[in-house]
Amino acid sequence: MHQHGENTRALGLPAPPAPPQPPLRAPVHRSTTYEFASSQDYADVLAGEAPGYSYARIDNPTATGFAAAMAALEGAGCDREVHGEAFASGMGAVSTTLLALTRAGAHVVASRSIYGNTYSLLDGLLRRFGVETDFVDITDTAAVRAALRPETAVVFTETLSNPTMTVSDLPALAAVAEEAGAVLVVDSTFATPAVCRPLEHGAGIVLHSATKYIGGHSDATGGVAVGDADLMAAVRSARIDLGPCLAPDEAFLLHRGLETLPLRVARQCETAAAFAAAVAQHPAVERVDYPGLPGHPGHDLADRLFDAGRRGAVVTVTPRGGREAGTAFADALRTIRIAASLGGTHTLAGHVGSTTHRQMSDAALRAAGIGPAAVRFSIGLEDAGDLVADALAALDACGGGTR
Ligand code: PLP
Repeated sequence: MHQHGENTRALGLPAPPAPPQPPLRAPVHRSTTYEFASSQDYADVLAGEAPGYSYARIDNPTATGFAAAMAALEGAGCDREVHGEAFASGMGAVSTTLLALTRAGAHVVASRSIYGNTYSLLDGLLRRFGVETDFVDITDTAAVRAALRPETAVVFTETLSNPTMTVSDLPALAAVAEEAGAVLVVDSTFATPAVCRPLEHGAGIVLHSATKYIGGHSDATGGVAVGDADLMAAVRSARIDLGPCLAPDEAFLLHRGLETLPLRVARQCETAAAFAAAVAQHPAVERVDYPGLPGHPGHDLADRLFDAGRRGAVVTVTPRGGREAGTAFADALRTIRIAASLGGTHTLAGHVGSTTHRQMSDAALRAAGIGPAAVRFSIGLEDAGDLVADALAALDACGGGTR
């Protein structure tokens, strides 16, 4: 009887048991490959004729679990079946979705105020491959309709856009897209399904940078897209070909983040509303962009489309003066930290003109409705009074005059 050597035995050691009781916390499946009982079983899973897993880039149970959880949240109010796909980053979700829905000769109508890398993807890379994009004022439905062409495949917008918190009229955009036979794709990173679920308002696909509120703790990078089953079949196929699959450890953290998403987002929105209202009173402040404030252009639309009391948790404060007034304000903050990104537990601030929108001149910023002094705040979970006190003290300290 042949005895296996020590290395062969080392590779055939008993596997950990599958627990008979379901674990409360989903395990992290790190294996990149799966064993089959026969070649036929292997072929059937690869062909999609039997359920299961074969290779981590194609599917991973931890990532599948996260995508399914997001589909349940985004599809909560839909009477149609929706599917989710998880990605390595928000841009993985954006780029794969746009590549899946377009081809050379296709046309996209996109909001003028979208995330910078989405803009450069549409205006650079996709243009090189023969996909043309017109950027329009997405709040002007007539302008969106006028930009449509027979070959328009996608209308692309963000539920809430950075940094002015412009609210997209999703039902109107969905109707316009449908007239043209195009798909409305909505980046809902700033809203989350705890504020608004675009699929309920006619979007074909909603996507997120899960790096932000979904993960919620500034410690995991990922993305997700959820949409109608037929559209998502194309997105899935493109994801498998392109390769931006979500890593299992990140999927675990992002999935865990969902348990506290409603709690965190409700609290962040409540604090953001209090912060926006208090800071707007300071004499050194020219303007505050927050859809919870009555003067914001998206206020009434947000009332219609968003869940009660939730208007997002990004607040943009523009002090009087130029760029220097904005950087002085940000630099005078003590509790609030200067950092990139948003949606985490810590409140973060950034001077818009020198960071997220640094490529734009003062004139270009003003044309986009952004003051050169604007400072964007992503409100976290600190006590509201402490954040307000920090911002007011910073406004006083940087020459904002007396109150
Ligand atoms: N969409 C929006 C609205 C964003 O703010 C970001 C990142 O800031 C992205 C997409 C890209 O996400 P990621 O950085 O996870 O690729």
